[in-house]
Amino acid sequence: MIIAIDGPSGAGKSTVAKAVARELGFSCLDTGAMYRAVAWRALRDGVALDDEEGLGRIARECEISFVHGSGDPMPRGVAVDGVDVSAAIREAEIDRAVSPVSAVSAVREALVEQQQRIGRSGDYVVEGRDIGTVVFPEAPVKVFLTASAEERAHRRVRQNVDRGVGSIDYDEVLAGIRRRDEIDSSRASSPLRAAEDAARIDSTGRFIEDVIGDICALARRAVGARVDGDGSEGAR
Ligand code: C5P
Repeated sequence: MIIAIDGPSGAGKSTVAKAVARELGFSCLDTGAMYRAVAWRALRDGVALDDEEGLGRIARECEISFVHGSGDPMPRGVAVDGVDVSAAIREAEIDRAVSPVSAVSAVREALVEQQQRIGRSGDYVVEGRDIGTVVFPEAPVKVFLTASAEERAHRRVRQNVDRGVGSIDYDEVLAGIRRRDEIDSSRASSPLRAAEDAARIDSTGRFIEDVIGDICALARRAVGARVDGDGSEGAR
């Protein structure tokens, strides 16, 4: 079973996705990390951000895998061709490069195929921009999580301080969030938008625990309906 969580940068998707997955015993798939991984390879290999063919080739050829800490079922990071890039993909230069990279159709095709393959292998909370609209339109739970750009910038700065990577300059982070929102929402291929049947949740001014509670309630209802429906299986 898939729980789709979409929304703009910094809305709290990762925190919510991890908490909901732990609560339900699901795995987590961070699709943003996959686009970041392709952007990292492009910068490393000197592939220009307007070279659509080169970017598509990287997305098809590079091997993206998730890095697990010992004993933790939740991935703590991502590797590209065996190189752990968990910290590198959170740097400001990747923040700047990732939206143009993810606007390339060939990149999206390659990554969506991988995401569908992973998601079909088990029960997943999948976070991204197009999960409910394109990747898993049949997901029984779809959430579109938003928050004001200012609040998202504050949260991102705090997150960067905690992680020790990325910019901690509020104005720079806010400008970056606005720039990415604009590119992600206006691109021709799978723009950021809520699926018609998504629950829209605005986390501005709310405690994240309350938001997690709301989404867990939605997810538990769907899991319950699934169990009642076939009378036998667990969450799947
Ligand atoms: O979620 P995160 O901020 O890490 O995503 C980084 C970028 O990857 C987004 O700004 C967006 O351009 C792209 N992305 C996407 N589709 C997804 C997930 C992320 O285009 N499903």
